[in-house]
Amino acid sequence: MTPRILDPSNPSSKEQKTFAIFDGCESFSGLSKHCFMLLSEQRESWQELKDAYEALKTVKTRKIPLKDFSILLYFNPGRLISATAAVGKKDIQERPCFLCQHNLPPEQKWILYRKEYRILCNPRPVLQSHFTISHVEHRPQAIPDCFDTFLNLMSDLGPGWITLYNGPRCGASAPDHLHFQALPTGHMPVEQELNKDKKFLLVARIAGISVYIANDLGREMVVLKGDDPTSLIEAFSRVFDALKGAIQTDDEPMVNIAGFYDKRSWLVVLFPRQKHRPDVFYKEGDGRIIVSPGVVEMAGVLVTPMETDFERLDAATVESIYREVSLDNSILVNAVENMR
Ligand SMILES: [Zn+2]
Repeated sequence: MTPRILDPSNPSSKEQKTFAIFDGCESFSGLSKHCFMLLSEQRESWQELKDAYEALKTVKTRKIPLKDFSILLYFNPGRLISATAAVGKKDIQERPCFLCQHNLPPEQKWILYRKEYRILCNPRPVLQSHFTISHVEHRPQAIPDCFDTFLNLMSDLGPGWITLYNGPRCGASAPDHLHFQALPTGHMPVEQELNKDKKFLLVARIAGISVYIANDLGREMVVLKGDDPTSLIEAFSRVFDALKGAIQTDDEPMVNIAGFYDKRSWLVVLFPRQKHRPDVFYKEGDGRIIVSPGVVEMAGVLVTPMETDFERLDAATVESIYREVSLDNSILVNAVENMR
């Protein structure tokens, strides 16, 4: 079935919030094309989104070359609210959920995705063409029950996209409302790192899926590669349980996830974490550095909403921030033992 697009020339569809409906499609070009069409419509009809994308053009960037990897530093004042958002349980309970339909901006339209999700233009984009894919119901952010959707989304969007997940305690701005993000590829340093075979060690084969860990890339990564979704779901579950065992938690282990799909194969990168924000985030006065690492940061784009931080962040500080928020290597080594 191909995506249905509602006729914008039909006056009755003017008030229509559902821009298109995607029920599953053999041809991957369909969903990708409709996401870009939605974005272009929303940039015309939604002033706040238009302004946010205009502001994105003025974002300053600089490359920070480190010993083992490199990071692109972004100065984006538009991310101040997200970067400093209170994400404690009480704070979340007390604020209206911005992903629930009744709280969406009146201008917002969406693609209804496989009956259960809405593909939305993110009104505070980090990079060009930034989408949020949120569940139609208000339910907690938890990956084990929706990893199949994550894989579907990757293959439905097709090559040229990166699909993202932030764990509820390490980057999700709405930990109470299940959501993913998607962006076109070409912006994240991790994409180049994944092409360097020497930087990844094969540590296990689970249900025919190859499992790798990163070797000297400044933060820990577990990479799953395979072409069968059922096997990927099984391997992911084993990796997830192994992390839980090594961290000794019954909760969802802190992870950010980035997924790529190309040549009928899925590549899923997990960034296991031990901390959401680094200690410098909580300092007072001049010592404070506002960075709040989520999946975009772990993939190599470090965003700060403060110009002073953009100017003063140096290689040593960036390196130590990544080490501090990433899972300790010795714990990951234990997890790998549990996977086998
Ligand atoms: Zn909600």
